[in-house]
Amino acid sequence: MPKGVLIVISAPSGTGKSTICRRLLERREELRYSMSCTTRLPRPGEKTGRDYFFVTKEEFKRKISRSEFLEWAVVHDHYYGTPRHFIESTVKKGRNVLLAIDIQGASSIRRKLPEDSVLIFLAPPSLESLKQRLAGRRDCSQSVAKRLANSKEELVAAKDYDYLVVNDDLDKAVSQIEHIVTAEGLKVSRQDISALIPVGKLEEQRQ
Ligand code: ADP
Ligand code: 5GP
Repeated sequence: MPKGVLIVISAPSGTGKSTICRRLLERREELRYSMSCTTRLPRPGEKTGRDYFFVTKEEFKRKISRSEFLEWAVVHDHYYGTPRHFIESTVKKGRNVLLAIDIQGASSIRRKLPEDSVLIFLAPPSLESLKQRLAGRRDCSQSVAKRLANSKEELVAAKDYDYLVVNDDLDKAVSQIEHIVTAEGLKVSRQDISALIPVGKLEEQRQ
């Protein structure tokens, strides 16, 4: 059975990654979501095990020392990490996994799993709309300022991704990402073509 693929989505904070991931998971029930660990505090309404695994800095460092993360990074002054075991066991079952992680995490996944990852950069229609979305989420003004400052550097990293999707119209962006997932799954390298080939033909070609 072909392995699953890591669908990595990065975007400046406030662009709409979480919103888009929620929609994708509703529409593509074969997708699984990689729930990250973080040391940042939950925002109003966020719950551990649903949005993130919220942990203390000590717990996070213990996990690093036990190699429990496939990748981890410090983003906007907090630690974030992708639990390794979930990813490995899920792709082994042939399932695709969605990861909403920052540009450092995406670059690390690309280095470790170049054949098994697809990198999608999600961009806001403009910096002005990003500011409005961040403000609408009721982050504190200090956190909004930090996220906006970092967004400029993050946008430059888009050049290293496989795909660029602009989240202007939400439905359109979700549908474009669905098309990417479909096309990536149809790559010959990701399918088991042995059943299509008449017995003996593969052997003949190898000789
Ligand atoms: P991220 O996970 O990238 O930090 P969120 O998913 O939390 O971003 O979205 C930030 C805010 O922007 C939320 O209030 C969300 O409802 C809003 N939002 C997301 N996509 C769109 C869109 N296409 N148009 C307008 N607002 C959007
Ligand atoms: P937020 O605090 O707004 O939810 O996320 C802040 C940033 O951390 C976003 O860019 C988000 O994609 C990123 N992030 C979330 N989880 C992970 C992770 O496991 N690893 C890395 N490298 N970044 C993450």
